[in-house]
Amino acid sequence: MNTALTEQKTINQAKLAAEFRQFINPEYVITDAETQRVYECDGLAAYCELPMITVLPETIEQVQKVMRICHQYAVPVVARGAGTGLSAGATPNDCGVLLSVAKFNQILDIDTDARLARLQPGVRNLAVSEAAAEHGLYYAPDPSSQIACSIGGNVAENAGGVHCLKYGLTVHNIVKVQMVTVDGELIELGNEGLDSYGMDLLALIHGSEGLLGVVTEVTVRLLPTPEKAQVVLAGFDSVTTAGDAVAKVIEEGIIPGGLEMMDSFAIKAADDFAKAGYPREAKALLLCEIDGTIEEVDQYIEQVATLFKKLGATSVQISQSEEQRMLFWKGRKSAFPAVGRISPDYYCMDGTIPRGELSNILTEINRLSEEYGLRVANVFHAGDGNLHPLILFDSSVPGEFEKTEEFGGRILEACVAAGGCITGEHGVGLEKIRQMAVQFNDEEISQFHAIKHSFDAEGTLNPGKAIPTLKRCQEYRSIRAQEQAKPSQSCGHDHSHEEEVKHV
Ligand SMILES: Cc1cc2nc3c(=O)[nH]c(=O)nc-3n(C[C@H](O)[C@H](O)[C@H](O)COP(=O)(O)OP(=O)(O)OC[C@H]3O[C@@H](n4cnc5c(N)ncnc54)[C@H](O)[C@@H]3O)c2cc1C
Repeated sequence: MNTALTEQKTINQAKLAAEFRQFINPEYVITDAETQRVYECDGLAAYCELPMITVLPETIEQVQKVMRICHQYAVPVVARGAGTGLSAGATPNDCGVLLSVAKFNQILDIDTDARLARLQPGVRNLAVSEAAAEHGLYYAPDPSSQIACSIGGNVAENAGGVHCLKYGLTVHNIVKVQMVTVDGELIELGNEGLDSYGMDLLALIHGSEGLLGVVTEVTVRLLPTPEKAQVVLAGFDSVTTAGDAVAKVIEEGIIPGGLEMMDSFAIKAADDFAKAGYPREAKALLLCEIDGTIEEVDQYIEQVATLFKKLGATSVQISQSEEQRMLFWKGRKSAFPAVGRISPDYYCMDGTIPRGELSNILTEINRLSEEYGLRVANVFHAGDGNLHPLILFDSSVPGEFEKTEEFGGRILEACVAAGGCITGEHGVGLEKIRQMAVQFNDEEISQFHAIKHSFDAEGTLNPGKAIPTLKRCQEYRSIRAQEQAKPSQSCGHDHSHEEEVKHV
């Protein structure tokens, strides 16, 4: 932290808190370190920082006032939903205000005729489908964290999930967003019709990671609950065969409701945890859900099962009841905590590759796993080519997190080399800011800065996240070029640059 900012912090904490307490319940203006400890990180606990002040406003007017005051003093603001993010996007700024939307947890309206739901940003993802169920409707994007993550956080990260292959990501399921800008203006993007006039600013907000404004209301599309859904669970003797089978399902013209893959390590961990009835001896597992009308499901479920057998599946099971379908998914959806039971720590990466590259990237991850001496469990949204390698490590071993982080970065760079990208759904945050320099050239990064500048000229909204400075990009590229020029890419190389690059 630089001295100027330290001074600002000392001056501003008492003054700002006093200003906030004039219009926010004083209980919800938190300044003491102990109470703020719960906000110091998101799901990526390696990046921790205590905010200067945490506020939990209860009305949109209060959010507007907080933003106006922070704008006046050029104080950074970090919005926070449920804090389940995995890229340190909601990590507070130590000289700034953490604005939690936890008090905005109401479902404002469910319009069954229009099949829309109007939500406050702190509503949990799963709560939307639970509330819509009595009307025969549901909200399709279903991150594995859906029991906890907020709809505002889903918009900010453009969250994905098992059902996004067929029904689209968050961006495809939102019609309107209300947002408070950096200077406290309340704006609406999108509308309840199919299209809106002008540029598609609604799409721009998706995945903007709290850099462009604070989302205060979200209108989501609801879909009719499918008449029927069944899952084919297929074991394979290699990840290559399973990867090829994924491509073949799509080639057949079948769009599954979900198409997920796990490798042998993840299969055993998930089955130990969920007792899901997985084929434990398989080297790879595919879960393929077909949903729709009864006739569609009956036809396609058999077609997929037959295809998997033809492609060499060593076991094929079709769920025979709703309980069994949910059990099959329970294993997949609890894969992260399940892996957490077999290692002191795990680090979840998130990269995307073209579907046809699945087996190549897995080979590369295995090679890197040996190079770094760290085990990896692989869980994917295979239909979307979205990888989640879980690197197992022990943070109590000095240097092991740094090694793990470097390994993760190398996986992302392999994704870019394979024609993919550095994030599928978890965002860039602080975690992947260095790899932005690998994914994008200076001109592209400049365009991101131009967009950011047009919403937030002073750069006080979630500063240091998602978009690196050009200088840092150039430094990182030159460091990586030097490393790659070395005869052997040992993981024991000098990390002294990394702290500097991390907090741009
Ligand atoms: C076990 C586990 C499984 C997961 N599985 C998935 C998955 O399948 N798919 C997936 O996409 N993600 C997944 N995630 C990641 C995470 O749950 C999602 O990114 C989710 O969208 C984050 O929502 P949140 O409310 O927790 O946001 P937070 O973590 O609080 O914030 C995330 C980012 O959004 C910004 N933000 C939050 N609320 C607002 C707001 N109201 N206005 C403006 N900006 C805001 C924050 O500043 C931050 O940059 C998983 C996480 C865990 C821990």
